[in-house]
Amino acid sequence: MNLRSLPSVDLLLQDAAVQEWVVEYGRRLTLEALRAVLEEVRASFPKESHIPDQGELLQRAALRLQAWTQPTLLPVINATGVILHTNLGRAPLSPSAMRATAEVGQGYSTLEFDLEKGRRGSRLLHAEALLTRITGAQAAVVVNNNAAAVLLALSALARRRGVVIARSQLVEIGGGFRVPDVMKQSGARRLEVGTTNRVHLSDYEAALEEKPALFLRAHRSNFRILGFTSEPTLAEVAEVAHAAGLPLMDDLGSGSLLDTARYGLGHEPTVQESLAQGADLVCFSGDKLLGGPQAGIVVGRADLVAKLKKHPLARAVRADKLCLAALSATLLHYLKDEAESAIPIWRMIAAPLDEIQARARRWAATLGRGEVIAGESTVGGGSLPGETLPTWLLALEIASPDRALARLRQAHPPVIARVQEERVALDARTVLEEQEEALLAALRDCL
Ligand SMILES: *Cc1c(COP(=O)(O)O)cnc(C)c1O
Repeated sequence: MNLRSLPSVDLLLQDAAVQEWVVEYGRRLTLEALRAVLEEVRASFPKESHIPDQGELLQRAALRLQAWTQPTLLPVINATGVILHTNLGRAPLSPSAMRATAEVGQGYSTLEFDLEKGRRGSRLLHAEALLTRITGAQAAVVVNNNAAAVLLALSALARRRGVVIARSQLVEIGGGFRVPDVMKQSGARRLEVGTTNRVHLSDYEAALEEKPALFLRAHRSNFRILGFTSEPTLAEVAEVAHAAGLPLMDDLGSGSLLDTARYGLGHEPTVQESLAQGADLVCFSGDKLLGGPQAGIVVGRADLVAKLKKHPLARAVRADKLCLAALSATLLHYLKDEAESAIPIWRMIAAPLDEIQARARRWAATLGRGEVIAGESTVGGGSLPGETLPTWLLALEIASPDRALARLRQAHPPVIARVQEERVALDARTVLEEQEEALLAALRDCL
């Protein structure tokens, strides 16, 4: 055998399968794949003396085409029981949020167009009316995510000036978001008060000597401090700030609009409460407990929100039309008091235990194997640290559970599960109903 027996690209192009690739992937990419495979064979000769035949060459080219065109951002089935799983894209959107996104994305829209006046309008308008109606705030602005919201607010209100924050709130959220780092980026000077575990109202009062521009409270999001601790209420801190003529901003992180305590969880402070207790600005994420698209939302006093809207950074961190469409549709669920049934993450939080158990049992019956056992789901997304919801899991006894998890990750769509007590465990709470069939097919194939 020698390299002369290698077919030419022109010859390979005449193959019926290759002609189909030209239609599917385009001529340029198909040629690139064929040339790459031929080049690979030539380069490895004579070290690798085997010259592949045409069938093998085409097989290798097909693998390349698949690898080059396969999307890396894929839908997966979340059987982990973590409702707001940041690595899995946080909140799944409601059908009407998806419809709104598709309608606005497919064509032109009123993104920055005033229909009545027939001229330029503002994108900042779209979600604002809904947000103020739902929260009672005077004004609102939506940006790319909550990290951007905090950065924008601190830049617009406290650049080169002091921001008072308790040491116990200098949190790291994960994925590189650290409150002290964001403060630094904004150009604000950090005025830390209190100790790691305790902060008193007198600490806030003493900080006034430094002539700060703003008081900031940050939600602890992903940890709790227990034991010898104390912290004044938000209302008390607001009183000190307001007496000195200073605004108070509350970075709520998850920013729930509903009371989590109604679902057997701890109480997560709501946006409405934060405003009622005197926060002048409240910022939170769109894709955590709100259950919408990635976004950063700031609600509060009109004069402060106006400063944010006018700041040059606002343009750099603005929300896009798809986000605004999905966010508005999500907010509408709250306005119509249907959030609990219409927003997927709230449906998961509110799911009755016996319903979850019935689903897991149905899976076991369909598969003809596995045991339904009690377990725990978590909310995630920087809310309710350490809290869990009771749930039911389908537990499958498999010789090497870690390898089974790896196989499930190769399924179409991939299934993300966990191991509990040496078994593969699938939480029925976080699996979307429309994915159930695919889940069962994957389990049958992989296990
Ligand atoms: C999650 C979180 C953020 C960051 O929000 P993103 O929308 O992910 O950018 C900021 N602050 C707190 C307190 C958070 O919990």
